[in-house]
Amino acid sequence: MTHVLAIVNQKGGVGKTTTAVNLGAALAEAGRRTVVLDCDPQANATRSLTPLQPVERTIYDVLVDGVAIADAMVQTQVEGLDIVPASQALAGAEIELVNLAGREARLRDALKVLRQTGDHDIALIDCPPSLGLLSVNALVAADGVIVPVQCEYLSLEGLGHLVRTLELVQKRLNQDLELTGLLMTMFDPRTNLSSQVVEEVGRHFPRKRFHTVIPRSIRMGEAPSYGEPITSYAPRSPGALAYRALAGELIGRLDAPNGQA
Ligand code: ATP
Ligand code: MG
Repeated sequence: MTHVLAIVNQKGGVGKTTTAVNLGAALAEAGRRTVVLDCDPQANATRSLTPLQPVERTIYDVLVDGVAIADAMVQTQVEGLDIVPASQALAGAEIELVNLAGREARLRDALKVLRQTGDHDIALIDCPPSLGLLSVNALVAADGVIVPVQCEYLSLEGLGHLVRTLELVQKRLNQDLELTGLLMTMFDPRTNLSSQVVEEVGRHFPRKRFHTVIPRSIRMGEAPSYGEPITSYAPRSPGALAYRALAGELIGRLDAPNGQA
């Protein structure tokens, strides 16, 4: 069974791509065959995970031209981790999709084959910082949603809007969608603010906050420019340990008999 998880927050720079890349690498390291679907025209996940083969087709071709997802998938340098890359062309998809049949369900339809073949245990969808058609496609295709939340002032602003969007998608387009968890990112132990934000999110979303908190670390910011996840760039760094812990926590939730996606 393939678990499809969308990594969503319309707020920019909160750690969506960092989570897709490093959680993906940590899951692969733990033996779960994983694929990252880069659904952001910024293509930051694609750049952060050097593909082993040259990129010929991208998620744009899958969404707009109906290319099979397997034909756009390439291996990364991390064993057990594949990527369906993005390119800038994807920026046009947001508009082009509007006129296509089943515009909200294009990704879900493309993922049917991936689910059938069962070659991957987990698919992580990296979303752009908006709740436009690309993010909606991710939410319609997904079983679960991971929401990264930066440990900063104003991080809770906008979460209400995001939750209402999730509820709307659940009601109209994907009844099976679950909020898998909120992930606190860029935690700085030296500031009271970081702890306050973690506590506040826990109060608003009891049981939904991941126990694992991702620390702010310089090495995490460096890793993408080397095309490597933190788990191989700095395998013993606090960031690498945190994403491994998150992978363990997520696997526990997915494997639990009554666990949600
Ligand atoms: P966007 O909304 O633009 O897609 P995003 O939500 O995907 O952004 P990231 O790109 O993952 O956010 O992170 C924003 C910036 O913060 C990046 O430069 C990234 O390297 C850096 N960053 C992310 N997490 C950490 C961390 N834990 N410690 C230090 N830097 C981090
Ligand atoms: Mg991003």
